[in-house]
Amino acid sequence: MCGIIGYVGAKEAAPIILNGLKRLEYRGYDSAGIAIVQPSGSTDVRKDIGRVAAIDAKLDFLGMKGTIGIGHTRWATHGGVTQNNAHPHISNNGKIVVIHNGIVENYQDIKRRLLDEGFTFYGETDTETIPNLIELEMRGGKDFETAARDAIKQLDGYYAVLAMFDGERKIVASRDGSPLVAGVGAGENFIGSDIPAFLEHTKTVMYIHDKDFVVIDDAGIRFKDLDGRAIERPVHSIDWSLEQAQKGDFDHFMMKEISEQVDTVQKAANQDKETLFAVADAVKKAKGVFLVACGSSYHACLSASYIFSKIANMHVNLVLASEFSNYEHFLTPDTLVIAVSQSGETIDVLDAVRTARRKGSKVMSIVNVMGSSLHRNSDLSLMLNAGPEICVLSTKTYTAQLAVLSLLAYTVAGRYDEGRESLQYLWNVIYNLTAANTRDYIKQLADKLKDKEHVFLIGRGLQYPTALEAALKIKEVSYIHAEGFSGGELKHGTIALIEPGTPAIVFSSADNEKEIISNAMEIKARGGYIIGVNAHSNEVFDFFIKTPEVGLLNPIVQIIPVQILAYQLAVLRGCDPDMPRNLAKSVTVK
Ligand code: GLU
Repeated sequence: MCGIIGYVGAKEAAPIILNGLKRLEYRGYDSAGIAIVQPSGSTDVRKDIGRVAAIDAKLDFLGMKGTIGIGHTRWATHGGVTQNNAHPHISNNGKIVVIHNGIVENYQDIKRRLLDEGFTFYGETDTETIPNLIELEMRGGKDFETAARDAIKQLDGYYAVLAMFDGERKIVASRDGSPLVAGVGAGENFIGSDIPAFLEHTKTVMYIHDKDFVVIDDAGIRFKDLDGRAIERPVHSIDWSLEQAQKGDFDHFMMKEISEQVDTVQKAANQDKETLFAVADAVKKAKGVFLVACGSSYHACLSASYIFSKIANMHVNLVLASEFSNYEHFLTPDTLVIAVSQSGETIDVLDAVRTARRKGSKVMSIVNVMGSSLHRNSDLSLMLNAGPEICVLSTKTYTAQLAVLSLLAYTVAGRYDEGRESLQYLWNVIYNLTAANTRDYIKQLADKLKDKEHVFLIGRGLQYPTALEAALKIKEVSYIHAEGFSGGELKHGTIALIEPGTPAIVFSSADNEKEIISNAMEIKARGGYIIGVNAHSNEVFDFFIKTPEVGLLNPIVQIIPVQILAYQLAVLRGCDPDMPRNLAKSVTVK
């Protein structure tokens, strides 16, 4: 949620920052703004509500001159979506500008104090307190850097914050709980909420840890703690390519990323063997294993809990990250918590990790972003290796999670080689499922469904989590109401909603075909339109999507046609597949 980019160098900052904001658009936002320190020393701030391109057309970001600046896309938490509330925010004396991601939970106390000191406020955000608090600290004679540190120390909640001061060629930054990473260039430096913000300029990054205080100026990037003591942070090279963060020949990132699953499932299966076996060993030794995740990652974990049960003969507990604290009484130093996340910055997951740490439990993670907060806070991590996922919806990271979790289950069961080979076999299957002819075929279905109000999805066993995930894909991108159920559950209530023509997508596999076909028959008897996703057709299906039978790996292949369907529905209904309304890529607020 929210995008942050900062630049200090010799080039004009505005084009770099504008481009960075566009690259961060996928994170979800409602307003945007840029601040540039002009050659004269004063700061030019332009901001408004709406899309970056539209704001640029109106305010001419590229007309801003100067070689140091910051830019922000806001996802409103405190205060309406208005121009005043858009970031950057300016202090009362007009000299300090701040952009911020997160929530200052004690902003009301700080605001009261500032009002008592005679400060005034033009908007309603929590963020506006920050530049004014820095100004208040400076009134006592402190320099900007010290004042910024002392102000940041007073913030409760979670934040990534960047600040500049009129006339100083310097960006200061800090974070606690919200993402922020620095980019090291040649004679220029960057800071952003995510690597794609500056990927075309540098692949050398320095991860910023919670409560680090970073100073970026012409001399370079310096890390300190919040008391001003210098600290060392390592420099990393990342292997993401710019092409991975660009649409290429595709109209949307969503379809590009769906197609990439041919390779990303293979890359996910190509785990560092030593780490994989170490995690498997920890799973075997633990007295209690929890899989913790949100959204699509949770669905991947639900699949995994079935796979662990089926092949490793092992019960793993599955908990939504936002509910995890309710289980803390079961956590001991012998418990293993495996947190699963795409970004590694999801606040609910990070909170769950904190809970686990407090209880002394071991924490391991399955995550796509190297250096992310989750990665850094884990004893061991298995990387998804899926490359940047720009579309707000998880597609390739979902199947990568399934691949890694399945391989882990096979490894725990002592069947690593079989797991690896089974995953390798999927290359061909996924190639066919994402090919142009399959996409055209599914488009015929999208044409039939595009004006429907509801879609129901059912599956049993491993097809149940697939039904949940497929429903999530359809609703989050096409805004058609979609609900997934286990095959047995529909008749415990929701079957009342089936009317003539109501679409029902039925996932099945060799081991549950008879029962699920009976469930499909029940829906059909009430007029439902049945779409089968299966290895072979059945007379109950009105529309059939063939997916080969791949046993425990069915969840990886069976979700793909519905990812494509969700995409086609979004396009046909005029929705933006890459940036669905109200959603954000990494959910960094509770
Ligand atoms: N809480 C701040 C606001 O509402 C920052 C939101 C964000 O992360 O974009 O302006």
